[in-house]
Amino acid sequence: MENTTNVIYITSNCNLACEYCYEEQNRPSKTMTYDDIDRYFEYINEHSAPHSHIVLFGGEPLLYPNLIEYIVNKVNNEYAYKQYSMSMNTNGLRLLEDEIYEWYKQLIKDKYIHLNISYDGPHSHRRIDKRGNCVNTYIENVLNKLDNDIKYSISYTLNKDNYCYCIEDIIELLEYHYIEKITISVMYKEIDKMAENYNIALQHLKPYFNEILKDIISQYVHLHVNCVNIVYLIIRTYMEYHHHNP
Ligand code: SF4
Repeated sequence: MENTTNVIYITSNCNLACEYCYEEQNRPSKTMTYDDIDRYFEYINEHSAPHSHIVLFGGEPLLYPNLIEYIVNKVNNEYAYKQYSMSMNTNGLRLLEDEIYEWYKQLIKDKYIHLNISYDGPHSHRRIDKRGNCVNTYIENVLNKLDNDIKYSISYTLNKDNYCYCIEDIIELLEYHYIEKITISVMYKEIDKMAENYNIALQHLKPYFNEILKDIISQYVHLHVNCVNIVYLIIRTYMEYHHHNP
């Protein structure tokens, strides 16, 4: 039996309408029922090893705290012997509501649910609400609101708006917030040049790799920066270098 990551797609509904959302086009409204969740757990119980991971996914899972609570109950009681770890992919906005924030803090006393908050930095304006307003300031407010004992990750989508600011954004996020990890996904169709240069960049940069790495680590050694970050920091440095030294 494999140690797996099990994604629970709680809902297709969301309180945002991000421009690039794969869920956005003609999205039918679909949300799991308690029965669906029961069936899902019967399945993963058979197919996953103890200590596997469960990801709460959407849409926006925080639209349905009742379903999240139901899942946590199952994990803590019926399937306690499996010792699942848990995380949630969220835009975090509902944590601005004091009631939801307190609810989350209570919930994680019973079962820690690591937050993976999607945020593309202040220069990208693709995260918009249903009226087309950019919600970056609200997401920043969420990050500022989170207590230091809440460890969370940021999911950063690199696109044509923010890739020039990627390093600055990452450093600022790491400096001002208690972030465990930043995962970067890339919109290749927008910045395919960057993708094309990926291998060349690594080759050219090999000699400088240790120096760059040392620099980054000396500044942020107390933080857990994953490899993806470092690779993109390096690519960005490479591209800057070639821009100024053609
Ligand atoms: S927050 Fe996530 S699910 Fe919601 S619209 Fe944006 S990308 Fe899509």
